[in-house]
Parts: sequence; C-alpha cells; structure tokens
Amino acid sequence: MLPSEADRVPGYLAARFAVVDPATGEAFDEAPDQQPDELDAVVDRAHRAWHRWRADPVARTAALRVAADAVEAAGDDLARLLTREQGKPLAESYAEVARTAARLRYFADLAPRTRRIVDGRPVRSEIRWRPLGPVAAIVPWNFPLQLAAAKFAPALAAGNTMVLKPSPFTPLATRLLGSVLATVLPEDVLTVVTGREPLGARLASHPGIRHVTFTGSVPTGRAVAEAAAASLARVTLELGGNDAAVLLDDVDVDRIADRLFWAAFRNCGQVCMAVKRVYAPARLHAEVVETLAQRAKTVAVGAGLDPDTLLGPVNNAPQLARIEQVTQQALAGGARAAAGGHRLDGPGYFFAPTILTDVPPGSPVVTGEQFGPVLPVLPYRSLDEAVAAANGTGFGLGGSVWGTDLDRAEAVADRLECGTAWVNHHAELSLAQPFAGVKDSGVGVAGGPWGLYGNLRPFVVHRPQEA
Ligand code: NAD
Repeated sequence: MLPSEADRVPGYLAARFAVVDPATGEAFDEAPDQQPDELDAVVDRAHRAWHRWRADPVARTAALRVAADAVEAAGDDLARLLTREQGKPLAESYAEVARTAARLRYFADLAPRTRRIVDGRPVRSEIRWRPLGPVAAIVPWNFPLQLAAAKFAPALAAGNTMVLKPSPFTPLATRLLGSVLATVLPEDVLTVVTGREPLGARLASHPGIRHVTFTGSVPTGRAVAEAAAASLARVTLELGGNDAAVLLDDVDVDRIADRLFWAAFRNCGQVCMAVKRVYAPARLHAEVVETLAQRAKTVAVGAGLDPDTLLGPVNNAPQLARIEQVTQQALAGGARAAAGGHRLDGPGYFFAPTILTDVPPGSPVVTGEQFGPVLPVLPYRSLDEAVAAANGTGFGLGGSVWGTDLDRAEAVADRLECGTAWVNHHAELSLAQPFAGVKDSGVGVAGGPWGLYGNLRPFVVHRPQEA
C-alpha cells in the first residue's frame, strides 16, 4: 500500500497550487507548494539515507531492477496522468514511461570500474570511485518522467541519494512516480519536492547538496550554476537547443518527409533536440515547404487522451504566448505561413502546426528556440553557407544532415558544432551513448557510463608495491 500523502509529503497540508490540463486550459488538480525552508529537513534525511544506500552495491542493483518493474506495473496510471498535465498523446506518454523503466534497468547493471595506474613506478596506485552525496535534480515540463529518470537512475546507481524537483507545470506524474518508487526503494533515497520558485533556486544553492543536475532553459541554467557556486557543488546542465536539419541536394524529399516532420513536431515541438530550423537547397526549397506544409495541415491535432490525436496542445499558457510572439514577429517581418501561423480557436493551449517560409534574417524564430509547433524552412545556395548558418547560433545540442549519398552526408554532419549529429534521422538516442551539448546547450556529460561517472568522484589509493 502506498504511504498516505499526509505522511509522505512534507507540507502536504499547507499551501497548494493548481495544475492545469493544457487540453482544456482548466485546473484539474493541485500539488503541494512546498516552501524553501522545508528543504533543510528533506536534504538532511537524504544525507542520512545516503550512508546506508552507498554501502551495498549489490542491494542497489536489485532495488533498481525492482524499481523498473514497479514503474511498468504503474504504467497506465502514470501515462494517463502525464498526458493530462503535459498534453502529449497517450501513446507518447506510454513510451515515456517505458523509457523511464528502461533507464532504471540500464543503470542498475552499470558499475564503475576500479583501475590500476601503471606508469613504471614501484607503487600500487588504484582508482576507485565514490558517490558524491545527496544530488539535486531540477527538470522541465516537456518530458517530466523520462528526464527525471535520466537523472535519478545514474545518480542512485552510483550510490547517491536524490532530491528531485519537477516543473510546477507538471508536478503530478512525477509525484506519482515518487510514490511508486517509495514502495520499493529504501526511505529517503529519492524524494520528490514540488513547489513554485524560489524552491528550485534554494535547492540548487543548498549547502547539503553535492551535485546539481539541471535540465531546462539557458537563462535558468545560468542561474542554477550561480546558485550552486555558493556551495561549490558539481553542476551538470542540459540546456536548450536550436537544432538545424541540413538537406543536401541529392535528398529524396518524399522519402524523408515524415521522419523530418516528426523530428520537428513530436511532443508539439517541445523537445530540446527537435529540428527547429530546416536548411534546404534553393532548388528544392519550394518542394520541401510544400511537402511539410501538407503534413502540418492534415495532422490530427487534439487532446492527448483522444486516441486519434497525433499532436497535442502546447503545455502551458506562457509558452503558448512565446510561440505566438515569435511567429507574429516573423510574419510581421515578411515571413509567410505555408501552414498554420496562429492559435486554434476554442479552449486549451492549441497552436496550429506551422511551416514558415521567407523568414527574415535574424528573426528570433531562427536565432532562438521556439520550442513549439513552428518550423522555419530556409533556402541556401552553397553548402558552406548552410553549414555556417547551422553553426551560427549560440546553441549546440544536436543537428542532422539528410541526403542519399550517406558518406557525403556524414562528412557534412561531421562539420556540425554540436553534441550529436545524425544522418537521415534526428534525436535518436541510445541509453549507452554520451549526451552533451556544446556552447550554450550545456555543461557536463549525461548518458551511458559517462552519466554514471558524472555522479561519482575518483578516489586514489596509493601504496608501495609488495616486495
Ligand atoms: P525552465 O528553465 O524554465 O525550467 C526548468 C526547471 O527549472 C523547472 O523545474 C523550473 O521550475 C526550474 N526553475 C525555474 N527557475 C529556477 C531557478 N531560478 N533556480 C532553479 N530552478 C529554477 O525550462 P522549461 O521551460 O521548464 O523547459 C524548457 C527548456 O528546457 C527548453 O529550453 C528546452 O530546450 C530545455 N530542455 C533541455 C533538454 C536537454 O537535455 N538539453 C531536455 C529537455 C528540455
């Protein structure tokens, strides 16, 4: 049986804030609005739990495997609640729950390797790996469960404990996930706290926290790094992206159109690694615009719980306003909407899937991160011009190159300044690969063994060799 809310959540009976269903624009539930001063007790308990949790790697592996099973068993409830508060189609929520469980399983079986330093000296010098202590995780609203798991799975596998703060726009599925995991993990190993700012700022600067792992926007990432500097905690930042897709002149537009469209519009474009700009050779530009616009005009937009929906609402009102603003700015500057370009009438935070062409240079929809269902398609004349434009923003998360000659496409992909570059795909990630952004897109490396070591510190034991 799950512990009752009042027992489990500090501050449960105190203040609460409303959670809105983006498909209706109406509040449908509430979450505890925990106050920064509650964090002292939470972090203190995480610290005490850490001494027990770090001591037994075999028990940790077993517990994390059981945790993955528990997440799957609660899959229906988690997926429905996630769709309700986040807006994404139910099938995508199920996929997110599955990825949450998969991350737990992957990291459960990953252990750091003790290594000898061999450098010719007559000593025995060994690198062992030690956990850091309580880790703070702060995550955004676009993939609340899977991004939380990307943080807690490696952190817990490494022997740390965690205090996890979801976005106030999507606190409920994460709280449910916390309750599910509380039934199978030792007490206080993972604590979910919910509340509005300055809860996150206080968590990032808390002196008992040894690593702050943050996913979110670039400005908040900077604020988090500054806050964590107070206690010199380690910082991992996974920040925004403005990924370019560069289409080559031998691309088969019809063949790639669906993949390219969904690389931009999945989760209503609210993906850090979505395609956010398309560069097409001038000769193919009109065909690319038309082909993508056809899909944008006909895709089924609706509430995520409706089984026919392929594209849900934008998650929240401020984000909808931002998307509308950058779109209108582009249109006012001379851009043309080949599809969409406006909000949809009726309740909820719906924006018509939008393909923009003739976008003026320097438009914020190209230089910034729109993070919504709006895609500019830009023509280029030379490949060097396209690569320079793709690399020409402050972001460097991902990028892709699309064409028929795979070797040529790969050679162009190799010139992109980002953490991951794909050929004829975008945002396909393996659990085993490093995940890192360059420039403003991030600091530190998550994913695969790098994610595990990001939650550990090296500890060297040095002694004379046996005589
Ligand atoms: P955000 O930066 O507004 O918020 C992220 C989290 O930080 C939320 O939990 C928020 O409550 C919290 N927060 C807000 N102010 C804070 C402060 N001063 N100190 C500490 N925490 C604070 O981002 P968002 O709008 O929720 O998410 C969208 C952004 O996240 C986009 O830029 C997107 O690209 C980025 N993102 C990046 C990745 C990645 O892996 N690189 C993945 C998903 C999303």
